[in-house]
Amino acid sequence: MEKRKDSWQRFSGYLVVAAGILLLLAAAQLVGLDELVAAGEGSVFTAVTPTLAPLDDAPATPALSEDEVAVPSASTSSSVPLPVLNDSSLAPVPNPHTYQAKMPAHDFKIHVVTDFDTPNSIALEYGITADTIIGGNPQISRESNLLQTGAQLTILPVDGALHTVKPGETLDSIAALYGVPVADIIAFPTNNLEPPFLRLIPDSQLLIPGASIGQFTFRAPKSVGGSGGTQQWAVVGTGTYIWPVSGRCLTNYYSGFHPGIDVSMAEGSPVYASDTGTVTYAAYAAGIYYDYGNLIVINHGNGYETFYAHLSGINVYPGQIVYQGDYIGATGNTGRSSGPHLHFEIRSNDYGQNPLNRLAGPVRSCS
Ligand SMILES: [Zn+2]
Repeated sequence: MEKRKDSWQRFSGYLVVAAGILLLLAAAQLVGLDELVAAGEGSVFTAVTPTLAPLDDAPATPALSEDEVAVPSASTSSSVPLPVLNDSSLAPVPNPHTYQAKMPAHDFKIHVVTDFDTPNSIALEYGITADTIIGGNPQISRESNLLQTGAQLTILPVDGALHTVKPGETLDSIAALYGVPVADIIAFPTNNLEPPFLRLIPDSQLLIPGASIGQFTFRAPKSVGGSGGTQQWAVVGTGTYIWPVSGRCLTNYYSGFHPGIDVSMAEGSPVYASDTGTVTYAAYAAGIYYDYGNLIVINHGNGYETFYAHLSGINVYPGQIVYQGDYIGATGNTGRSSGPHLHFEIRSNDYGQNPLNRLAGPVRSCS
């Protein structure tokens, strides 16, 4: 018994010693990790130092003191190898639920147009700009006469425009299209864009705060020489305007929503320069101005421009001087147009004028 007790005591003594060693090892692993890392950094740092020495044979950088070596540095911590997990036993269970992007969920007010409404009166009523009425209702932009009594208008809560997402578009491309910050689009609550999963859903509509679709500010690119207002024009218009087409039947009159007149004309009818000037644009209207379709703009050199839109043919080129009555193109149905007609504008320093105030003779509605 005595002997067995001795051996048992001896064995338990070994156990205590072994347990102590294990504890010490464990503690060393836990507590000593930082020291190990610091030591690793120190050695790496020391190894790198020579390559940082100046190239002009200056004396070698003095060795760092131990204190300096031991200070962990953010710039070198990336060089410490991270442990690689080869065992999947601790890996999280894969989540079978994939992320599903939320659809935009707007809840806009609707305004029903009455007899006495104007773009400005509607805008004033809701505290937005007239531009934003177009922004929320792209279907009435430029080439429609849908601002009729009883028409329903979407009223956006802030100034901006609705954009229908097309496949392949990104937030960056949409922001660039309207010249607004990406963050403003993300921040608008009912766009339902949730960082970091900023997924765009084709055919959904985003509200673009601060955007203008350019209804009242369209400037045809000045594709002839010179710069802006200081340009010296080779010719100056007469200041009088003739009818650019032979028709006098109008499908749409000038208004705050429609900066010109629409003259119904059979496809391919001749179009004439309303006054003398320099052609500044003669191409399909690009980007968000596609409504105009094939467009000719003539700058008359006196602050006035004339626009000829939806053309089927263009017979002039940018920079060309044209004289009042010259044949410049043919009527058509390009861009946002619901039948062959000429959309004609007269602008004074970028502001639309009512062409009927400057064109002679009676007109009639087509209906
Ligand atoms: Zn028009």
